[in-house]
Amino acid sequence: MQYIEPLAKLIEHLRALPGIGSKTAARLAYHILDMEPAKAKALAQAIIEAKEKIGFCNTCFNLSDTNPCSICSSANRDHSIICVVEQPRDVAALERMRDYKGVYHVLHGVLSPLEGIGPEDIRIRELLLRLQNTTVKELIMATNPNIEGEATAMYIARLVKPAGIKVSRIAHGLPVGGDLEYADEVTLAKALENRREI
Ligand SMILES: [Zn+2]
Repeated sequence: MQYIEPLAKLIEHLRALPGIGSKTAARLAYHILDMEPAKAKALAQAIIEAKEKIGFCNTCFNLSDTNPCSICSSANRDHSIICVVEQPRDVAALERMRDYKGVYHVLHGVLSPLEGIGPEDIRIRELLLRLQNTTVKELIMATNPNIEGEATAMYIARLVKPAGIKVSRIAHGLPVGGDLEYADEVTLAKALENRREI
């Protein structure tokens, strides 16, 4: 099917998004064309603003529009407990349950020898630097419960244990192979509460 050029371009960009096939992309594109001009403009502007204003916190490497982020700069958080997660969306999932009062460190990935991802490809060095410069009592490894997540948790535990820092792993109320971000708040709270030392 041939689309006029501006429409084809819009469909192409939408189709590049995860989980969007050709049909959905076309449906969304037609929907956008039907929108009031002000609403369509607001959508485009929101994308531009999010890209321009959001960067990484230089302490925890979560997404933030301030540096340090609101969690790292909060006096109400316990800065001696760091929860280590794979992705910014995992922080969002843990924050939704409102129980956790420590801070975070976002690795931006996990170790995966098969995919050629080694320690230098994720934010492990930044975590170690952080541990040198601040007094941290506990690291909670909250990587996903799959092979890569477990291996990454163990790798980091081995690195930091000699420094006398307690390292714990969240409990497996989480489905094995499942993703942290899709777990409900009760499951997450339980997983955190029942963490065990490694
Ligand atoms: Zn931060």
